Amino acid sequence: MHELYTVLAEYYDAIYRRRAERVGEEIDFVVGLFRKEAEREVTRVLDLACGTGIPTLELARRGYGVVGLDLHEEMLAVARRKAEREGLSVEFVQGDALEIDFRKEFDAVTMFFSSIMYFDDSAIQELFNSVKRALKPGGIFIADFPCWYYGGRDGPIVWDERKGNERLIITDWREVEPGTQKLHFKRLVQIVKPDGSVRAFMVDDELNIYTPREIRLLAERHFKKAKIYGDLHELRPSDRRYWLVAVK
Ligand code: SAH
Repeated sequence: MHELYTVLAEYYDAIYRRRAERVGEEIDFVVGLFRKEAEREVTRVLDLACGTGIPTLELARRGYGVVGLDLHEEMLAVARRKAEREGLSVEFVQGDALEIDFRKEFDAVTMFFSSIMYFDDSAIQELFNSVKRALKPGGIFIADFPCWYYGGRDGPIVWDERKGNERLIITDWREVEPGTQKLHFKRLVQIVKPDGSVRAFMVDDELNIYTPREIRLLAERHFKKAKIYGDLHELRPSDRRYWLVAVK
């Protein structure tokens, strides 16, 4: 479990290069939601499951005061190094999103890139509770996720990336359990050195599939307002990626 966030942490940004290139657009959208949906001005943000800080650092570049929290030190080490290189001041802390003990400290809490799918039915309720506690009144919670029932391929999907002089060959596939709404996300990462030697890592993560309606209904139990947006715009009938926007 979680090889992607431990032994492969140094390769995370290379694996998700294309997503990292899109983060500016994501944060434009998120800043728009802060202005439109939050019921207070947003200056301080808690980014949960921040990983290597791809969205966290973009928020910091826009002038927000950001705290990034993640379960895995290996991911945080990459995030801290990037922040230092850019001269950005972001506090990165290790911890479990379910065990945070912030009280009314943030104007916004974010959880990017499907991380919410790590939380099962009871964990997601705990998560909403701790997010709510961390928010000031009128503060906003934003999380994006796909629903894996709706299209996409079971794979295998193969692609390659580079990191320095190493070549990465990534093979993804997924197994959906319709009865339990679990998704087994499987990924084989092969790291090929210029001399042809190969190291291979297998990722096998269990994620929880939520429909946008399920997420909205759960969030409505905890927040004053909960709404689903589509991918970087208002919800459209054809959307396959969603943004939960909830206000305390
Ligand atoms: N949000 C980042 C990283 C997404 S990858 C981005 O947009 O790039 C998912 C991250 O969730 C990993 O870094 C993993 O360590 C973290 N994670 C998983 N379960 C967690 C938990 N219970 N608490 C905090 N972080 C968690």
